[in-house]
Amino acid sequence: MNDCIFCKIIAGEIPAEKIYEDEQTLAFLDLHPVNIGHTLVMPKVHFENLYDTPDEVLAHIAPVIKKLAVAIKKALKADGINIEMNNDSVAGQLVFHTHIHIVPRIEGDGFTHWRGARPYNEGEMAVTREKIQEELR
Ligand code: AMP
Ligand code: ZN
Repeated sequence: MNDCIFCKIIAGEIPAEKIYEDEQTLAFLDLHPVNIGHTLVMPKVHFENLYDTPDEVLAHIAPVIKKLAVAIKKALKADGINIEMNNDSVAGQLVFHTHIHIVPRIEGDGFTHWRGARPYNEGEMAVTREKIQEELR
């Protein structure tokens, strides 16, 4: 945790372009933006990612994400917004301090989704639903 770059930003040891702060939350501009205005929102307390972040913390952060997304969209005249969270290395997580990306999207910016890249085989969809529902029981 002492080596956590986001904890250092929260502690004021490393500079950042902060755009929002409250007692539990900090948001600042991503240093390597997908598009201009790409923002990271995070709890001030160190958690690794979604799995260990308490529900109360997520409940506090959700409306902050909404407020910032609306402001970013207006301020930058964006055409849309992606909200993204990477959990685990395989999913692209580089910094292991819980954070959510707010990415402004511009018509024609060329970023594409991977939707539909891996179609289901016959019967696989129902088996998949059952596996997930089993974990929820
Ligand atoms: P993730 O891949 O979800 O862990 O995203 C980490 C993000 O943190 C990346 O988009 C980086 O560009 C961003 N980042 C890393 N260091 C800094 C920093 N010092 N200030 C602002 N953003 C940073
Ligand atoms: Zn941290």
